[in-house]
Amino acid sequence: MSAVRHRAHAIRVPCHQALSDMTLTDLAMKHEWGLQAFRQQQKSEDGLPWLEIKRVWAEKLLASCNYCVHDCQINRNAGQTGYCGLVAEHRISGEYLHFGEEAMIGITHAIFFSGCTMHCLFCHNWRETFDLQAGSSVSVVDLVQQIVLRCAAPEVQSISFIGGTPEPHLHTLTALATALPQAVLQPWVFNSNATLSATGLTLMEGLIDLYLPDFKFGNNRCAWQLAKMGHYCESVRTNLAAYQAQGADILVRHLIMPGHIDCCTWPVLEVLARDFSDLPLNLMAQYRPFYKADEREDLNQRPSKTELHRAQMRAQELGLKLVSV
Ligand code: SF4
Repeated sequence: MSAVRHRAHAIRVPCHQALSDMTLTDLAMKHEWGLQAFRQQQKSEDGLPWLEIKRVWAEKLLASCNYCVHDCQINRNAGQTGYCGLVAEHRISGEYLHFGEEAMIGITHAIFFSGCTMHCLFCHNWRETFDLQAGSSVSVVDLVQQIVLRCAAPEVQSISFIGGTPEPHLHTLTALATALPQAVLQPWVFNSNATLSATGLTLMEGLIDLYLPDFKFGNNRCAWQLAKMGHYCESVRTNLAAYQAQGADILVRHLIMPGHIDCCTWPVLEVLARDFSDLPLNLMAQYRPFYKADEREDLNQRPSKTELHRAQMRAQELGLKLVSV
């Protein structure tokens, strides 16, 4: 098992109440107790498994969902939907082995979730992400079987949660953490928009080995106009700092968008150089005008060679640690 999940499995929390009787406040407090024990590596033989507390807390939070920064506070158990459009079921758009990721990730079992916390006009897998009927509802038992089967192959080096983005699916991840056999050793990769809420970040501590955030926009105006996302820059910076505080591995991706070198690529690179200079960065050149990119002249083309070259040169000038696939 990955070192992080192995340590999390060892944590038990003293409890005199049944989990089913606990309120959200009880669960948050018990989870916090377990988190401190996890950080200080204090093992205990007695009490409830911390991962079980995580699972039940995540499930109960669905009644007033605050997994991500949109903080919709709607009842997904009752069929209400917020920004992501998802109710409480476990919903994926597909799963397969992915051979084209960076060396830190290697050959990975990619689980693609439906729905997203952003609505990018140029989304390359928009059918699977935004058409929620295109995906399928799965049980945790079935998902565990798929993971066990895929991960039995010795060449599979990691399990990636992707989409869309995994933030709306924290109940699925916490359920998997308790249900997956401990013999499944591969580390977990959280491939996301970096839009976890404070609660979401807490829930993921102890489960995620490698965070893989897409740092797309360099200012909040472009994030709103191109992805209907408010407070974007604050969200990404907060998430990156929290991933670091967790001691997890981090690999940042930035997709170079046509016409957005000065307003997006430049500020993204500068924030990384100033505040996160230790983090490896994949500067991605594969932008294509998918989905509704034809609604905007700037997005309806590929980045020029000059734009790609300028981005590479600037990243090198700033001393960033560039990696590629
Ligand atoms: S996951 Fe985020 S977008 Fe979806 S309902 Fe919860 S808070 Fe809203």
